[in-house]
Amino acid sequence: MEYADLHIHTTASDGILSPEQVIWWAAKKQLKAISITDHDTINGVAEALLINKQNNDIEIVPGIELNSYFNGEEVHVLGYYIDITDEAFLNKLKEIQDSRYNRALKIIKKLNMLNISISVDQVLSISKGDSVGRPHIARALVKNGYAKDVKDAFNRYLAKDCPAYVERYKLTTKQAIETINNIKGIPVLAHPGLLNNKAIINELLDLGFRGIEVYHSKHDESAVNRFLKIALEKDLLITGGSDCHGKLIDGKPELGNATIDHGKFIELKKAAISKN
Ligand code: AMP
Ligand code: ZN
Ligand code: FE
Ligand code: FE
Repeated sequence: MEYADLHIHTTASDGILSPEQVIWWAAKKQLKAISITDHDTINGVAEALLINKQNNDIEIVPGIELNSYFNGEEVHVLGYYIDITDEAFLNKLKEIQDSRYNRALKIIKKLNMLNISISVDQVLSISKGDSVGRPHIARALVKNGYAKDVKDAFNRYLAKDCPAYVERYKLTTKQAIETINNIKGIPVLAHPGLLNNKAIINELLDLGFRGIEVYHSKHDESAVNRFLKIALEKDLLITGGSDCHGKLIDGKPELGNATIDHGKFIELKKAAISKN
């Protein structure tokens, strides 16, 4: 049975659904557990936990997704069962959010230099949350008629090697793993199927990851089988999630489209409990 979707974004970062809407869809899809894994912020998790107090049919795992770099490759690190009250961690997130804000200013400036009319206010009114990113700028570009959709906006302006590209803060993958360990979380390698250079997977996993995201909306069956094999070989926890950003397909979000079963969920939970 589909038990848990452990990779979901909310409006606190670059998702379209609010924490409340995420919980609503999770219930509708009959999930028993979810994790909110926003980019660089725990505010979506905090809000969801509060909402869920009144109606806790669904278990909410506090999570996060951190961007990092390893040998020039962008690597996403998921953290599960993290302590969202840790002061040092919250300060670090604030620092990352500030650098995201400054990066957004630089990107908008570059776009303005290209005679593209887009303002900081407009982007902030789209992002609302703490974690402003390129998807928000992409939505503004679409709205103002400079791209036909978000993907097109990335391809034309925002992706690496494009005219308005600006690098993000630099956190190494090892630092990201340490950050998760420091708050008693379980570090998991996110969507290895999306790495540009698949040859580094083994080396990456040896940096201290405890788990691998085997199931993901963008992993086909052969990718899933390949990552399952690696998980067994390296004795890693197996996780999975849709990476839902809220876009509707046939009127429904992707939430619940990639999941793990009860047994795998319990393994993850046990690993988290034994860290406390
Ligand atoms: P940022 O964190 O601001 O660098 O934005 C990264 C986010 O943008 C990712 O998590 C994806 O959701 C989205 N993204 C990255 N590349 C693309 C792309 N080519 N097309 C659409 N969305 C993208
Ligand atoms: Zn995202
Ligand atoms: Fe990611
Ligand atoms: Fe994600």
